[in-house]
Amino acid sequence: MIIVTKREADPDMVSKTIDLLSGQGFRARTVQWNDRILVVTGKNPARDILDQLQKSAITHRLVAPHESAQLASKEFQNDGSIVKVGGEEIGATKIVTIAGPCSVESSEQVMETARAAKRAGASMLRGGVFKPRTSPYDFQGIGETGLQILAKAREETGLPVVTEVLDPSKVELASKYADMLQIGARNVQNFSLLRAVGKSGKPVLLKRGMMTTIDEWLQAAEYILLEGNPNVVLCERGIRTFEKATRNTLDLAAVPVLKNRTHLPVIVDPSHATGRTDLIAPMARAAIAAGADGLMIEVHPDPEKALSDSSQQLKPQDFAKLMEELEKVARSVGRTMR
Ligand code: PEP
Ligand code: MN
Repeated sequence: MIIVTKREADPDMVSKTIDLLSGQGFRARTVQWNDRILVVTGKNPARDILDQLQKSAITHRLVAPHESAQLASKEFQNDGSIVKVGGEEIGATKIVTIAGPCSVESSEQVMETARAAKRAGASMLRGGVFKPRTSPYDFQGIGETGLQILAKAREETGLPVVTEVLDPSKVELASKYADMLQIGARNVQNFSLLRAVGKSGKPVLLKRGMMTTIDEWLQAAEYILLEGNPNVVLCERGIRTFEKATRNTLDLAAVPVLKNRTHLPVIVDPSHATGRTDLIAPMARAAIAAGADGLMIEVHPDPEKALSDSSQQLKPQDFAKLMEELEKVARSVGRTMR
């Protein structure tokens, strides 16, 4: 249950309400949600208590969602959220395209990619500096030096920057440089990390885990929202199935399923979902047609020499061509690319 309290609600009465709920066996907590205080319980009290709370002097609005990810639910907020990152808005009419290399390797590599991405009409720059690699022998990322390179690329191009964090202890450092923090597929249920990025107040790009159901994914988002951080964007990046022709199986149906269940913006990452450059364009077109609010596409000046994910990064010229092509698809569903 969520009580959206009145702006002028008496803090003493809010505390009394929490005590009343505790007395009834409910774990209630307050959440600062934009300019309001929410009183939230994980389970919905019985009808008589709900009726009593509905009439309370502190209550502006009371919602008893069916979804367990309550703050993420459409029952709590029917209008789609717009998440602001730098000057960009994710969830508005424009399809937000996040482009950039899998890993930040050098200043030249990032600057060249950032300039090309900007020219092609991308909205944001990506690049990993802390890399979650299956093998501990593989390239692990260049850390803070990479964050400085990303910040320099933003300074020159104006593109806001998103980068992945793997560890709660690095959230503060990454927040110093990046405009948005990414939680990767392997960390979608790393609950201390979710709480840490929630507390940071930075916009968060929450990728789906390769073994995560939509329900589990929404509950992961709820961890961030419960810290009073409403700026969460979901990213479908493929799930693990028996199919071997692609790196993962892109679950495109997740896009309309999520659109029915949550107000959070949803983007699609056809690079990690397919692991194949030849499938990025068709899956990007399909993602927009399915209602995605944005795309994440890996772009590298020389993909074959990339230190990670070399098989799924577009060359800058191919990315530019794709952006032009996508304009038509976007327009056909009432969206724009630029
Ligand atoms: C990435 O974006 O570089 C990445 C590692 O993605 P994922 O977590 O989806 O595998
Ligand atoms: Mn990658």
